[in-house]
Amino acid sequence: MRFLPGLLLLALTLPALAVKLSPLAPKPDWSKLDGYQRTITHDEFAHLVNTVYSPDGGFWAFATLTPDHVTIYSDATKKTPEFTLHFAGSDATALPRPYAYKTHGVSTDPRTPLAGIKIALDPGHIGGDWAKLEARYFKLGDDPPVMEAQLNLITCKILAERLQSDGAQIIWAKHGYEPTTDERPDTLHHEAIAALAAPAGGSSPSDEIFGLPDLSPRRSHVRAFSESRIDNEAALLFYRSAEIRARAELVNRQHPDLTICVHYNADDWGNPDHPTLSGTSKLIIFVNGCYEKSELADDDKRYDMMRKLLDRDAASEEKGCSLVGREMLEAFGYPPDNFNTSFARRITDVPSVYTRDLLANSLYHGPVIYCEGPYMNARDAYYRLIAGDYLGRRTIQGQSVPSIYRQYALAVERGVLEYFAK
Ligand SMILES: [Zn+2]
Repeated sequence: MRFLPGLLLLALTLPALAVKLSPLAPKPDWSKLDGYQRTITHDEFAHLVNTVYSPDGGFWAFATLTPDHVTIYSDATKKTPEFTLHFAGSDATALPRPYAYKTHGVSTDPRTPLAGIKIALDPGHIGGDWAKLEARYFKLGDDPPVMEAQLNLITCKILAERLQSDGAQIIWAKHGYEPTTDERPDTLHHEAIAALAAPAGGSSPSDEIFGLPDLSPRRSHVRAFSESRIDNEAALLFYRSAEIRARAELVNRQHPDLTICVHYNADDWGNPDHPTLSGTSKLIIFVNGCYEKSELADDDKRYDMMRKLLDRDAASEEKGCSLVGREMLEAFGYPPDNFNTSFARRITDVPSVYTRDLLANSLYHGPVIYCEGPYMNARDAYYRLIAGDYLGRRTIQGQSVPSIYRQYALAVERGVLEYFAK
């Protein structure tokens, strides 16, 4: 189907929205946070905002704090309040939270330490026919193609088996290579035009969803072609926004105690048909936090941040990400990734653990451990990845090694067992 020239469509859809929202976000129902009234003290709230969720202070541009309450406004003019949270007078008098996620094991049987625990697994990306569109595909010569969604799913299937044998109930955010969302790029053109027309400064699906930079070669050409720019934006909305939102909706209905997002990282590989291999993998695990001021201009982002904060996910995520992060560093021996920016900060004494606001770790309710594993195109991982999954050890590039997928899954399982044991 052909569309009218993009600029004309832009002109037809420019009327300003009353509420600023990030792409495809529903308008939040702030009254859902009323269940958190008097569940947190002023001091704990301010501490979590200042240290985990808004270390650049951007949140306070949209909120006013008093000893008794915090009021959140619809924008930085602070004229229209949208929610007021009243604080508990002390920890002793704080009311219970609406939902308590289990952070300690409840099993009395040492053979099944995770019995009674629900764990959601989110194997990152869609894969299959969509792998090239989502720019998570490359192929080196006659080697089998590398598709990140496939690597993530293989790892999650092994992890699921292990966690189930530990007694856990597994919830899948996506299983197979079909999208969880019913949307497709073709159904999102109207939303794509709206996203392109939105004023700059807020969050965009183009730059902040995953740990990786956007690797799509098409991005550099889109400015010259209005129709292809709309197509490109619709594709991004499909696989970066609609898909993740659908996964979160599916998972949140089932109240898992912990959600684990599994990814493999990469260096820029250039042309996917003539990819570049790089040297060394690095490891990184994300705790939700570090919302930037520009992101918090979006109504839904302020809401999501508040919900994460009020659920007290930070402490659980710091514990879980540290335990998994330490196991990953030990298992692989790769160095931790090292970047301190306005959108990611070190948060624990495990050097691979950073706070970062990703769509997945902000939309899943309850604690989330977001893992970025070995680099798909690093020489220390690539040959092991294309060898596929296997039992025991094999000699690859002169070294006797286990399946990289099993090594990843085992490290996460160990961290999860420690998380529920401590
Ligand atoms: Zn990924």
